[in-house]
Amino acid sequence: MPKTRRDYYEVLGVERGASPDELKRAYRTLAMKYHPDRNAGDAEAEDRFKEVGEAYQVLSDPARRRQYDTFGQAGDGFASGGAFNFQSAFDLFDMFFGGGQMSRPRSGPRRGADLRLQVNITFEEAIKGVTRAFEVNKPSPCPDCEGTGAMQGTSASTCTECQGRGQVQRVRQSLLGQMVTVEPCPRCRGEGQVVESPCTTCHGQGLVDARKTIEVQIPAGVDNEMQVRVPGEGAAGPRGGMAGDLFLVINVRPHDLLVRRGMTIIYECPITVSQAALGDTVEVPTVDGPATVTVKPGTQYGEQLRIPGRGAPDPRTGRRGDQVVRLRVVIPSKLTERQRHLLRELAPPDGKPHPVRRGFFEHLKDAIGI
Ligand SMILES: [Zn+2]
Ligand SMILES: [Zn+2]
Repeated sequence: MPKTRRDYYEVLGVERGASPDELKRAYRTLAMKYHPDRNAGDAEAEDRFKEVGEAYQVLSDPARRRQYDTFGQAGDGFASGGAFNFQSAFDLFDMFFGGGQMSRPRSGPRRGADLRLQVNITFEEAIKGVTRAFEVNKPSPCPDCEGTGAMQGTSASTCTECQGRGQVQRVRQSLLGQMVTVEPCPRCRGEGQVVESPCTTCHGQGLVDARKTIEVQIPAGVDNEMQVRVPGEGAAGPRGGMAGDLFLVINVRPHDLLVRRGMTIIYECPITVSQAALGDTVEVPTVDGPATVTVKPGTQYGEQLRIPGRGAPDPRTGRRGDQVVRLRVVIPSKLTERQRHLLRELAPPDGKPHPVRRGFFEHLKDAIGI
C-alpha cells in the first residue's frame, strides 16, 4: 500500500483537462522510465511504476475519470488502497504495449474475478452515507485443502516444464529472423506449480462457493450508477491467488419531492398568487427535515431561493452543496365571484402586464439543470 496517495493527474504530470492522447503519452513515457526491468532492485522506481499504472487505469476510463474528478479516490473506493497491485501494473503495461519486449508474462497464482453487486439505497442514504451488510455467494478458498487444490497430505509440486518460473521461452522464425518470445508455461498455465493429486472437494481448483456476510460503509455523497470498490472481497483466486474486488453499483431510489443534480438538491415549491404578491414564509422539505424560506413580496414565477449547506456532500471533503428552492406560482383555476372581482382590481388600467424586468430570463437560465 502506498504511504501517501498522490493526485492521479500529478502522478502522470498532466493538467486536469488532459486529452486521452496526452494521458496515453504521459503513461507511455513514465511506464517505460520506471519499468522494473530498467531499474532492477530500485524499490522507489517500483512504487512509481505501480502508481503510474493505477493513475492511468483510472483516468483512461471515462466513467471512472468522471467519478474521480468529482469525488477523488474516496468516491472510487480506492482510499482503502492495496487493490491495484504490482501484477496489475504489469498486466496494464502488457495490455498497453501489446506484450512487448519489456513485459513479463504473468506468473504465480492467478487473481480471482471481480464481482459486481447492485445496491439499492434511498435518496437520504446517498446523501448521508450508510453502512450495509451484504450476503455474497462467491468462490472462496476450499476449506479441505486450504485453497491449495492439493489433496490432504500432498502438496503442489514445482512444474517441471518451466522449473516453477511460470514462463517458457520460445524461439520462432519470422521475416525479421529468429525471435525469442517469452510465454506463460502451457503445463502449469503460468502458475509455476502443478497439483498432482487434486483435492476431491474442489477438484484441484482450491475454490468452493461459500456465503459470506460483508459489511460495507457506503460513503456520503454517492450518486446513481457510481461504483464503490471493496478491495479483496471479490472471488478468491484459484490455488492461493489473490482475491478480486467487489464493486457495489449504486442505485438510488428517487425521492418523492427532491431531485439531485450533482451536489445541488432541487425542490419545486408551489406558492399561491397572493404569497407571490404579498410575500410569506414557507416551509420546505430538505434531507435534514423541514426548513423555512422567506418568499419576498413581488416574487416572480421561477425565481429561486438557496438554502446553503443542505445539498449533497463531496465525499472527499465532506463539504455539502446547497438546496435550491424553485418557486412555482400556482394560478388558481376555480374562482368565486368575489375572487374574480378582486383579481380584476389587480389588472393594470390598460389591461397589459408590466414589462418583465431585464435580467429575469437570464436568471431563469441560470437555474440548475435547464
Ligand atoms: Zn480443495
Ligand atoms: Zn510450468
